[in-house]
Amino acid sequence: MTTFWCEHAELGDGAVPGVRISVGGGRITAVDRMPSPAPGDTRLPGVVLPGFANAHSHAFHRALRGRTHDRGGTFWTWRERMYAVAARLDPDSYLTLARATYAEMALAGITCVGEFHYLHHPAGGGRYSDPNEMSEALVQAAADAGVRLTLLDTCYLEGGLEGAGHLPLNDVQVRFSDGDADAWAARVAALPERPGLRIGAAIHSVRAVPAEQLAPIARACASRPLHVHLSEQTAENEACEAYYGSSPTRLLADRGVLGPATTAVHATHLTGEEIAALGASGTAVCACPSTEADLADGVGAFRWLRDAGSPLCLGTDQQAMTDLLAEARLLETAERLETGERGRFRPAELVEALTVAGHRALGWADAGRLAPGQRADLVAVRLDSPRTAGCALDQLVMAASAADVHTVVVDGRVVVSEGQHVLGDVGRLLTDAIDPLWQDAR
Ligand SMILES: [Zn+2]
Repeated sequence: MTTFWCEHAELGDGAVPGVRISVGGGRITAVDRMPSPAPGDTRLPGVVLPGFANAHSHAFHRALRGRTHDRGGTFWTWRERMYAVAARLDPDSYLTLARATYAEMALAGITCVGEFHYLHHPAGGGRYSDPNEMSEALVQAAADAGVRLTLLDTCYLEGGLEGAGHLPLNDVQVRFSDGDADAWAARVAALPERPGLRIGAAIHSVRAVPAEQLAPIARACASRPLHVHLSEQTAENEACEAYYGSSPTRLLADRGVLGPATTAVHATHLTGEEIAALGASGTAVCACPSTEADLADGVGAFRWLRDAGSPLCLGTDQQAMTDLLAEARLLETAERLETGERGRFRPAELVEALTVAGHRALGWADAGRLAPGQRADLVAVRLDSPRTAGCALDQLVMAASAADVHTVVVDGRVVVSEGQHVLGDVGRLLTDAIDPLWQDAR
């Protein structure tokens, strides 16, 4: 049994002072109000929140940070740089990069990551001796970094969609594809769940998966989490309308993809009818505000989606930054710019997106709250930093950043203490992982 005494803790109705959290077997066993710590308690400063769930990550995009801003361009030109990195990764370099990337996430208070993984096979095609070798690299990386993982194993079959139909896979994309949905499902079925690991599924997008393959994917994943990139770009909507005579949302709905186990990522360019369809189906929506801003995607209608019935969660996506607190703030501030209204989301709603809603989208119903029986994921955020000093407890999410995360506990294990990760210097780990990927490619 381990006991943590929190200066303040977020217990659901706001942060309260003096809370003792008892932990055994990786779970919270008791939550008690206590004005001061008892002997043996680990003292956690500031405000303790439940662990954050990063509901949308592409770990390897971390290698692109600070390297795609010199030439302007669009999402599509950014994608060319991304493919240059994708072409260079093998299981060893992927493990090294993902381990450092997930360690950076832990420093930011992320205790669980949803990895939207499509880098399945060797560069140029073929198969590794274990067809899940790249997946196993991610599993190992998350375990090393001390975070839980939902591997959203992604079906990716086509090279894109234009009005006349799908495009063939290019030389880089060929390593993303299993051939068809049945082969994809067979490979995923061979990947066992383990403690701290949940296997989910993803449809890359209607650009990369033809309509006739959608229903088999939805059936194969049963009630496991199923994620899909949706309407991030207007070009996707236009091509889908031209080829199918249907919006991407309608296509997914008609093929049985939407529902409470499904999360639509981005959902940026939607009509009112599509918002209503997503909400009525209980489909969650994952906003990735820093990515959507970096790629000039546009601002999604997240308040309307929430009001229509879609739970909202957050993701770091292309890792332009690894700061889920800042993502939450961007969710609110982007809507302010768009609508001319403040307070589109209450701070408590942003915390819900960071914690309980994110975990639900990743298939962890037993995480995201500080309550007995829940997984012991604790994030202590300092109240005495230059950023947070003077901040009201219930508005901390509108001021704090990843740099203010003091302690992170995942399943009862202290992974970050006083802002230091158990693996050591994460900046060094990232440098050592990223620099070799760009050698000869500058
Ligand atoms: Zn993505």
